[in-house]
Parts: sequence; C-alpha cells; structure tokens
Amino acid sequence: MKSFDLKGKVAVVTGGNGGIGLGMAQGLADAGAEIAVVGRNEDKSKAAVADLAARGVRAISVAADVTDKEAVGRMVERVGRELGRIDILVNNAGINIRKPPHALELEEWYSVIDTNLTSAFVCSKAVHPAMKAAGGGKIINIGSMMSIFGASFAPAYAASKGGIVQFTRACACAWAADNIQINAILPGWIDTDLTKRARVEIGGLHERVLARTPAARWGAIDDFAGIAVFLASPASDFVTGTAIPVDGGYSIMG
Ligand code: NDP
Repeated sequence: MKSFDLKGKVAVVTGGNGGIGLGMAQGLADAGAEIAVVGRNEDKSKAAVADLAARGVRAISVAADVTDKEAVGRMVERVGRELGRIDILVNNAGINIRKPPHALELEEWYSVIDTNLTSAFVCSKAVHPAMKAAGGGKIINIGSMMSIFGASFAPAYAASKGGIVQFTRACACAWAADNIQINAILPGWIDTDLTKRARVEIGGLHERVLARTPAARWGAIDDFAGIAVFLASPASDFVTGTAIPVDGGYSIMG
C-alpha cells in the first residue's frame, strides 16, 4: 500500500472543520498526512484538530476566510512555518444561498461565487510556489451534482460548481509541468450541516434523493476518506483534470 502512504506529507483542507472536509481530513490523517484545518468557526476547528490529532498525526487549525486573499496568504505562510511544507490542498469550503435567479441579490451571487469558486483560485495560486519548489503536489477541488445538473434554487451555486470543474481542467493543463495533479470530486447528496437546512427548505428532498440514488441512502462524510487519499497520493500520479462523482450512483440514474 506504499502508493497510498501519506506519511511526511502536509495537507491544507479548507472547511476541514466539519462535514465533507472533515471526512477527507480524517482519511488523509489515517494515511499519515499532517493536517492544517482552515475555517472561520474556531470552536469547530478546535474539535476537528482534536479528532485528527487522536489519529496520531500533527494537526493545526488556522482561522481564515478563504474569500480574503490576504488571510489566505497569511494561512499559507503559517502552515509553511509550523508544518514545514504543503503537499496537498483540498479546496472544500463552500456555501449555498437557495433562491431562484430572479430573487437572488447581486451581493448574494458574489458571496457564493467568491466562497465556492474564487477561493479555489486564491488558495491554489497561494500554494503553487511551495508545491512547485517541492517538485510536485496534489490539489482536490470540490464540485457538486450541480457541476452537471441545473437546479431552479441554486443559480450561483450551480455556476460556481460548474466553474470549479473547468478551473480544475485549466490548472491541470497549466501545472502538469510542475508535477501537480488537480482533480475535482463531485459529491452527491451528503448528510452535513449544509444539507440539513436544504431538507427543511426544499419539500420532499429527502425522499427524492433516496428514490434517485441507486445506493438508496444519503452519503456520509466517511464516504470521502478513500477518494481523498487516492487523489492526494502517488496512486493517482497519472490522474489529472478529472471530475469524479462520489454519489452512490445519483448521476448515472436514468
Ligand atoms: P458544511 O457546511 O458542513 O461545511 C462547509 C465548510 O466550509 C465549513 O466547515 C465552513 O467552515 C467552511 N467555510 C464556508 N465558508 C468559508 C469561508 N468563507 N472561509 C473559510 N471556510 C469557510 O458543508 P458540506 O460539508 O456539505 O460542504 C463541503 C463542500 O462540499 C462544499 O463545497 C459544498 O458545496 C460541497 N458539496 C456538499 C454536498 C452535500 O450534499 N453536503 C453536495 C455537493 C457538494 P466555517 O463554518 O468554520 O467557516
């Protein structure tokens, strides 16, 4: 299993203090990586760091808003100083504002696009020099089923998640020469804080998801540990620019 070994590697996981980000951080930690959890809620981050440290790796929390370029710069500098290097970046932080396009305010549009898409650009650009200097790296971007499908209630979210797939492809082409592989994961419907609210706001969502998902269940955060390790490890060195659904079959259901 040497090709899946992450000992000696350092991973930055944005939004790694809960939900899918924590599921991926747990997988990376179990494979031996040291983790920097990036988020705004320091209580959540503290609990996540305790969970990760209990897995036998060094973990730190860095409070930063990923839409703030200066804060991201300080975060990258601190991770370099405290953990010594950055080999893996997971661009996972994300939000949604559920409204049809005619009801969405411009500020709300920017808030979703900045958090879900622009942050991936800002964070990727910020870690690129360290990865290039180290001779390679891995970037994992988080898309969605709305990278593929439309939804009446998610104009900015769908735009950001479609954009993240194309951003992934562009970076994969640009940074292949630096031995940096960039891939996207497209989660199906996963039980997290984000979707707890969706189940309340969208009538019948819970049943519709179960009916359309061949696996006949909502995803759990643990479902993201394995794919994170694969895309962060030498096992995926010839895999770049892809967008891999982790959705229990939701996207292939006719
Ligand atoms: P959560 O709400 O549980 O997690 C979102 C995370 O993003 C939080 O940890 C939050 O940390 C962080 N975050 C949000 N805004 C910022 C910001 N400006 N700066 C720093 N951190 C931020 O949701 P999920 O785990 O469900 O979502 C994770 C990703 O997966 C998102 O990109 C989402 O779009 C995507 N996704 C989720 C699906 C699902 O069904 N759950 C389906 C498809 C995609 P804090 O509160 O500390 O700021």
